[in-house]
Amino acid sequence: MSTVVAAADEKFNTHVPVLIVGAGAAGLCAALAAKEAGVDAVVVERDAVPMGSTALSAGLIPAAGTRFQRAKGIADSPLLLAADIQRKAKGEADPAVVEAVAQGAAPLVEWLAQRHGLPFEVVDNFNYPGHSAMRMHGLPSRTGLELIDRLRNAAEANDIVILTRSIVERLLVDPDGRIRGADVVHRDGTRECIGCDALILACNGFGGNPELVGRFIPEMADALYFGHAGNRGDAITWGDALGAQLSHLGAYQGHGSVATPHNILISWAVIMQGGIQINGEGRRFCDETRGYSEQAAEVLRQPDRFVWNVFDARISAVARQFEDFRKAESAGAILTAQSIADLAKAMNVTTATFSAEWNEVENLKAAGGRDRYGREFLAEQSCEPPYHAVRVTGALFHTQGGLAVDSDARVRRKDGTGFPNLFAAGGAAAGVSGSIAAGYLSGNGLLTATVLGQLAGKAAAKQISQIGRLRS
Ligand SMILES: Cc1cc2nc3c(=O)[nH]c(=O)nc-3n(C[C@H](O)[C@H](O)[C@H](O)COP(=O)(O)OP(=O)(O)OC[C@H]3O[C@@H](n4cnc5c(N)ncnc54)[C@H](O)[C@@H]3O)c2cc1C
Repeated sequence: MSTVVAAADEKFNTHVPVLIVGAGAAGLCAALAAKEAGVDAVVVERDAVPMGSTALSAGLIPAAGTRFQRAKGIADSPLLLAADIQRKAKGEADPAVVEAVAQGAAPLVEWLAQRHGLPFEVVDNFNYPGHSAMRMHGLPSRTGLELIDRLRNAAEANDIVILTRSIVERLLVDPDGRIRGADVVHRDGTRECIGCDALILACNGFGGNPELVGRFIPEMADALYFGHAGNRGDAITWGDALGAQLSHLGAYQGHGSVATPHNILISWAVIMQGGIQINGEGRRFCDETRGYSEQAAEVLRQPDRFVWNVFDARISAVARQFEDFRKAESAGAILTAQSIADLAKAMNVTTATFSAEWNEVENLKAAGGRDRYGREFLAEQSCEPPYHAVRVTGALFHTQGGLAVDSDARVRRKDGTGFPNLFAAGGAAAGVSGSIAAGYLSGNGLLTATVLGQLAGKAAAKQISQIGRLRS
């Protein structure tokens, strides 16, 4: 069955101003923005309750220059955020999109807080790799589940219709590339052809499609996929059929710290606070602080595709702000010992090798120096008994390649011009991480989901309102 068909051949059952595919952070921010601009949006969501990868995330959004930062005396600016994004992406990210998301992030977080009551706070007790200021904004539980639940509540409070257990299967298109609507299959098997003035693709990337992952990201083909299974790459399949520009399909957010076999995310705070990774032979193998995304493949290259995060009680106290870490503790994933020798026994690694690595790191911390991989250690990162270890593996979190968009989140054709009424946000759009996993700066996922979502909703609504004014 073709995924994009000629609109002229179809009869529409109904019509909505803005149609949105996917009720994750991107889709719900887009719907809220359109509604605020006075234009109704209908969101179509595959699941019974909106969850998406958003619900699986830590829900942290990087934003620079917010009132939350100012209240804590944190100096930051959108320019600094943009520079950090490009430094991590090795300058490969589209500058117009980087500027749009860097400038839009603080207003976005404050909009969600003030207008929709999301109680954001800035995480100020550890920083993620590559960020030159404390700028991760999270909700009290530090979970994406809280983020998506609060966004869904905001959507419901604003009378936004979410058609759940409904899947968009095909797009209906005019010869000039104008989207006329979409073919939706509902939970009971009925088909509805919904016409629209603008379409926003917010259905994330292709992490849940093993065939596409194998084709575009072979290094993650056999890895655990830790994102939402319903993200099957529909946006890029439709985009490809429409002649859209597809960018950086090999880019992705990986993570080198998923507790195994428990499958629970262990926050990278354990590393950034002074913890290290040790492989099954008791050896360190790289500078862990470059970033958790590239660490996924690094961990998978180690013997038996797992390693240990090793840290202490001080670091546990920081990580415990994350519900996932508390879950890992309850699940018995975290080992504890009073000495490195006892920890080595519990981990079943060679005591002599592991102790030598550990002592070298602790000496570097005391003296303040760099290790053989270039990682810098500081005195305040010193560890003391009791020590902890958790067995982790590398995983694919979400794909970062997708439909190329402009600074209004409008999808571009291969020749660079924009489609008349097609927008993309979040994982459906090409991200700001360049072409490889190492280009992913922490938070790029929700940054482009929420900010591009809001921009897409605003731009779609503005376009529809302008056309309405011209007609009247
Ligand atoms: C474990 C984990 C931790 C993470 N932590 C962070 C973090 O702390 N900060 C950060 O910035 N990013 C993080 N990320 C990445 C972040 O979760 C994603 O980048 C972000 O949630 C993407 O939002 P989205 O709205 O584009 O997609 P999603 O939230 O995945 O929503 C897409 C929705 O589209 C629906 N859908 C798909 N196809 C169709 C269709 N054809 N018809 C109808 N519905 C469809 C899906 O069911 C899904 O609900 C994390 C990811 C994971 C997996």
